[in-house]
Amino acid sequence: MKNISHLDTFIFDLDNTLYGADTGLMDQMHDRMGMYITRMMGVEAAVASEMRHRYWKQYGTTMAGLVAEHGVDPDHFMSYVHDLDLAGVDACARTRQYLEALPGRRIIFTNADNRHAERMLAHLGIRDLFEDVFDVTRVGFKSKPAIESYHQVLKTIGAEGSKCAMFEDSVENLRPAYDLGMTTIWVTDAQDTHDFVHHRTPNVLTWLEGVFEHDNSTSCGNEPRENENPQGRRHPA
Ligand SMILES: [Mg+2]
Repeated sequence: MKNISHLDTFIFDLDNTLYGADTGLMDQMHDRMGMYITRMMGVEAAVASEMRHRYWKQYGTTMAGLVAEHGVDPDHFMSYVHDLDLAGVDACARTRQYLEALPGRRIIFTNADNRHAERMLAHLGIRDLFEDVFDVTRVGFKSKPAIESYHQVLKTIGAEGSKCAMFEDSVENLRPAYDLGMTTIWVTDAQDTHDFVHHRTPNVLTWLEGVFEHDNSTSCGNEPRENENPQGRRHPA
């Protein structure tokens, strides 16, 4: 069983974390980003794709690059790219049940905007489980992985990093969380490990099952295991 007794705050990314990457929603979003750049800048699709990647790498998000280099209105960009068809995303009753059972408050921390976050959380049927939703406007558009945004969240909710867990599919967003003392959970199908990742899991539900059903099979072994041998017996003292 994963020991979560030191935690009182559970911070979740939204997209590709609280629903699966296999829903294709991020592909829809990336397509719309490309279409936005194509239309607004009057460039070919290939150029738009290159700009999207370059700004994402250089500025942390595509939007930050468009704002910095082209003076794009963030609100206009956000409402365009988040005009998504949610039909491929299903609510999960078991995830809801386990989220509700977590012994602490639940927070959303997303690089998307509030309209998308509220719409998606309502679609997933879990909006009422979250005490607060931090979108990109709540952190002054200094989105993850900018350390200022993590400080802003912790300060606003009055939380200590060491008592927080953070769930994320974008691994680079977990490094600042780790630096602030949080327990980090990487939601991914990848097999690589990072020294700032405490747990790795294919989805949030699997991790939560490991908490409530005494299964530690999703741990990537970056913190001391409770049981060091296959039979689960502790070594003699
Ligand atoms: Mg995400």
